[in-house]
Amino acid sequence: MDFAFDNSFHDGMEGFYAPAEAAKPSAPKLLAFNHVLAERLGLDADGADVEELTRLLSGQVLPAGAAPLALAYAGHQFGHFSPQLGDGRALLLGEIVAPDGARFDVQLKGSGPTAFSRNGDGRAAIGPVLREFLVSEAMAALGVPTTRALAAVATGDRVQRERAHPGAVLTRIASSHIRVGTFQFFAAHYGAEHVVQLSDYSIKRHFPDLAGADNPHLALLDRVIGLQCDLIARWLGVGFIHGVMNTDNVAISGETIDYGPCAFMDRFSVNTVFSSIDANGRYAYGRQPQIMHWNMARFAEALLPAIHRVSPADVDTAKELVDLLPVRFRASWLGQVREKLGLDGEEQDDDGELIDTLFDELEAHHVDFTSFFRALAMLLRGDGTMLETLLPAPDAMAPWIALWWERIAKGGMGPLEHAVEMDRVNPLYIPRNHLVEEALAAAEGGDLSPWLELLAVVRAPYEARPGLERFAMPGAVDAAPYKTFCGT
Ligand code: AMP
Ligand code: MG
Repeated sequence: MDFAFDNSFHDGMEGFYAPAEAAKPSAPKLLAFNHVLAERLGLDADGADVEELTRLLSGQVLPAGAAPLALAYAGHQFGHFSPQLGDGRALLLGEIVAPDGARFDVQLKGSGPTAFSRNGDGRAAIGPVLREFLVSEAMAALGVPTTRALAAVATGDRVQRERAHPGAVLTRIASSHIRVGTFQFFAAHYGAEHVVQLSDYSIKRHFPDLAGADNPHLALLDRVIGLQCDLIARWLGVGFIHGVMNTDNVAISGETIDYGPCAFMDRFSVNTVFSSIDANGRYAYGRQPQIMHWNMARFAEALLPAIHRVSPADVDTAKELVDLLPVRFRASWLGQVREKLGLDGEEQDDDGELIDTLFDELEAHHVDFTSFFRALAMLLRGDGTMLETLLPAPDAMAPWIALWWERIAKGGMGPLEHAVEMDRVNPLYIPRNHLVEEALAAAEGGDLSPWLELLAVVRAPYEARPGLERFAMPGAVDAAPYKTFCGT
C-alpha cells in the first residue's frame, strides 16, 4: 500500500522532535483494519495484501516515504507540570493528504521505545489497543471530533503490566498530534521564537483562515477555545468521560485524543469517575468543562510570548478570552442539549432553566443517560413504557415532562416529526462498559467475534435494529463500580 507521505512537520519543524525507529515485532498478525477510514484517506487498501498491511502497520517494515519521529511535548498531569513528556510509546510515520485536501498524521502507537520513553517500555497491550479502536470509532459515529483507528496488529510479543498481556500496535490517524503540551514544552524550554514557529505552523496546517489576522497567535487561542467548548459540550452530550484531561492530551485541532481510562456513563451522576488513577475525581464527568477552562488558561500562558511579540496590548485580550470561556461553553452546551431535547425554533428565555432542572432530575433518579432521550422520543410517539422502565416510579419526573411537553408544543413541528429528529441525535447504542469489558476479555483470549460485533453495533448508533436489544441496556445496578486503567 502506498501512503504517498508528505511530511511537513518532519521537513519544516526540525528541533521539535526526535528521530525514532519502530521495534520489530516477532510474529505480527492483523487484528482489524478500518476500510471505511482507508477509503476516506484515499489509501488503496483493497489492492494491498494482508501480509503487506500487517508488516507496514506493525512497524516491521518501514513504508516508503516514511520519516519516523517522536514528538516532544510537556504537560500538566493532574495539575502538576511535567516539563518533559513526549511520544514515549508512539511514533509518527508521516503525514498523508486525503483526496479532499485534508492532511492527517499516521502514527504507530505501541511500537517500542523512543527518546522520550523514560522508564516505559514503549509498548501497548492488546486490550487498550482494541479499546481505543472501538471507542474512537464510536465517537466518530456519534459525530464527536476524534482521532481515528486505521488498524490494530498483534505483535506476537508479550507486554508486562500487572501481568503479561499479548502486545499490539494501533495505527492512529489524527489531523495532527500538536497538543497544548507541545506549546508548553517550547514555551518552557526555548521561548518566544519557538512558540511563534509552532503557532505559525499550526495556523498554516489547521486554520489557514487565521493567517491574516492582526495577531494570528491571539486568533489561534480564540479558535482553539471555541473548538474545546464545542468538543467538551459534545462529550457531555453523550455521557463521555475522558479520564485524563492533562494538557498533553488536549489536541489543538479540537479532536478527542488519547483514549486511556475513558468510559461512558450509564446512570446519570455528575460526579462519575471511572479512572483508577483519578482518586480525587479531578476529571469527573461534570468537572470536564472547568478542567477544559483550566487547560485553556495553560494554553494561553504558553502562547503569551508569541502574542506579546505581535502586540503587548493583546496580552490583556488573551486574558479576557480565557475569562469569558465559561460563557462560550454554556452556549455550546445549551445548544447541544436543546438539540437532544428537540427544543427547536428560537431559543426561549426559560430553555436554560428547563435544562438545568432536567439535570437535577436525572441526578436525583439516576436515570440511564443514553436511554432517557430515546425514551422522550418514544413518549412523543405515544409510548411511555420505555420511560417508565427508567424511572423509580412512573410519575417520578411528571412535572418536568409536562414543562418539556409544553415547550415542544411551541416548536414548529408535530410530535412525530420531533421524535424522528431527536432519534437522529440521541444514540441508542454506545460502548457500554460491561459490553466493552466482555468484548475485550474475549479478544484477549483469542476470540475477536464479540469485539467485532460490538464495533458494528456502535458504528451505527442511532438506528434501532431488532435483535440488538441487549446492546441498548445499561449494566446491572448491583454490579461492582466500574474501574478503568491507563496505558494503551
Ligand atoms: P498518557 O497518559 O497516555 O497521556 O501518557 C503520558 C506520557 O507517558 C506520554 O509521554 C507517554 O508517551 C508516556 N507513556 C505512557 N505509557 C508509556 C509506555 N508504556 N512506554 C513509554 N512511555 C509511555
Ligand atoms: Mg497522552
